[in-house]
Amino acid sequence: MNNQPLVYLDNAATSQKPETVIRAVEQFYRQQNANVHRGAYQLSEQATRAFETARTTVKDFINADSEQEIIWTRGTTEGINLIAQSYARPRLQPGDEILLTELEHHANIVPWQIVAEQTGAQIRVVPILENGDLNLQRFGELLNDNTRILSLTHISNALGTINPVAGLIRQAKEQGAIVVIDGAQAVSHLEIDVQRLGCDFYLFSGHKLFAPTGIGVLYGRKALLEAMPPWQAGGEMIRKVSFSGTEYNDLPFKFEAGTPNISGALGLAEAIRFLNSLDRKALARHERALMSKAIELCSAIPGFTRIGQPTAGASILSFQLTSHHQQDVGLMLDQQGIAVRTGHHCAMPLMETLGLPGTIRASFAFYNSIEDVERFAAALSVIAQGGSFSAADTVPSQSVFDSSPFGREIKDRDILTQLTPLKNWNDRYRQIMLLGKRLPSFTAAMKADTQRINGCESDAWLVAKGDDNGALWFAADSDARVIRGLIALVLAALNGRQPQQILDFDMDGYFEQLQLSRHLSPSRGNGLKAIIETVRKSASEALRHADQPR
Ligand SMILES: *Cc1c(COP(=O)(O)O)cnc(C)c1O
Repeated sequence: MNNQPLVYLDNAATSQKPETVIRAVEQFYRQQNANVHRGAYQLSEQATRAFETARTTVKDFINADSEQEIIWTRGTTEGINLIAQSYARPRLQPGDEILLTELEHHANIVPWQIVAEQTGAQIRVVPILENGDLNLQRFGELLNDNTRILSLTHISNALGTINPVAGLIRQAKEQGAIVVIDGAQAVSHLEIDVQRLGCDFYLFSGHKLFAPTGIGVLYGRKALLEAMPPWQAGGEMIRKVSFSGTEYNDLPFKFEAGTPNISGALGLAEAIRFLNSLDRKALARHERALMSKAIELCSAIPGFTRIGQPTAGASILSFQLTSHHQQDVGLMLDQQGIAVRTGHHCAMPLMETLGLPGTIRASFAFYNSIEDVERFAAALSVIAQGGSFSAADTVPSQSVFDSSPFGREIKDRDILTQLTPLKNWNDRYRQIMLLGKRLPSFTAAMKADTQRINGCESDAWLVAKGDDNGALWFAADSDARVIRGLIALVLAALNGRQPQQILDFDMDGYFEQLQLSRHLSPSRGNGLKAIIETVRKSASEALRHADQPR
């Protein structure tokens, strides 16, 4: 990427796929494509056999007792929703408790909040210690006779904490609770034996395990699955339908309504075969070596702060650079061909506990090399030494609204003349950062919550005002410097225009003209998109007001 070999360090979000997995998916479509469990012809029989063999591969991979305990899903998220609605909803009552932890991904929080709302059950949350380990003492105290369900992650996607699940499962089972383990991060790093763990449900996604997206696995103990009603209805999940009543199919098909993701299942089985062909203990050793190297190199970087130092951790490194906003670091690493994740990692409650808006996360897979780690650390070191981008750098201005119309303005024309001659992407990027520096910053008072726009990775604030000619003016700020630069670009184009002109403005075309769309397009899920949407909303509202008869 950016003319450099890609260093992919976002494996906790999704992994890259081995050649054999890609080939397995392709071969299915080229040579085997037919629906499963349906056709009376050979091709469909072959597809069905391959599909069911894939189920056996998964069963063996996690050592389930039977294929009937392996339900295909779209992924971890769907699996947790299935358990919440099919297992928990009919059983929970007011006074019952669902025990979660502060480490959970949103996928293991929100489905439980919904079912708690539906049933009157209560959610209890096990806190973490300062180092990112679960507080086991508090776990013991929170677990009680009313705990019906314990649902927790095996490995934290944000901090890398490996939870001591075997012991926690035993304690919870002694209290009569059922235990759900979110294995989305664990399957790629640890060898999983669901019978030895003794959990009731275990979930994972194919795409974090070197397999395609859109396929995942719900393991459930047979006795529980048998007692659960179907979750979705349609083909495959029934044995007999008549208008006087429907007979459900046996496990696992009862939970697999509709045509399944056949090629995804075959791809997942191939990914498992691929992993099984390797020495998994050696892979784990290699990942530990990558992680140690990363910690060693990064610890020498000024301002590097690791977030979470779990006693047992996977190869997931969460950190901040004190001198920079995390989103700036993410984008600057991207400039150098290094892909990491920044933000809250779908674990906003955890970030709130840590008192952080987010972190930068480098997550390593077995196919990463020590050289990848070295390039990452070297790039980070350059960023850290590139000077501070703190708010103190920016021009303070209480007077965005004081002078008419809004004080210092950056004009559309200025930007085009500054940016377009720069052919080199790095120079353009630097120019955008400089623009961000020139944008007047908001005072603390102006950063009131009402003005806050939550982006995925950074926060932004925006205020709007109309003038006597009906034109709209905006001022905005963000805690990420690159977003400030982009805000300057957007406001230069829109400020002082009529609402209809703002609505008609071709923002994508503008970014195209500035030759920025490849790297920083407004449709990327950054704070800029939220700002543009808010600006457009103001314009629509202004138009509506203008239309109303006085
Ligand atoms: C990725 C992830 C999920 C969600 O997985 P999907 O594949 O998006 O359904 C849930 N929990 C954890 C810990 C994760 O890392």
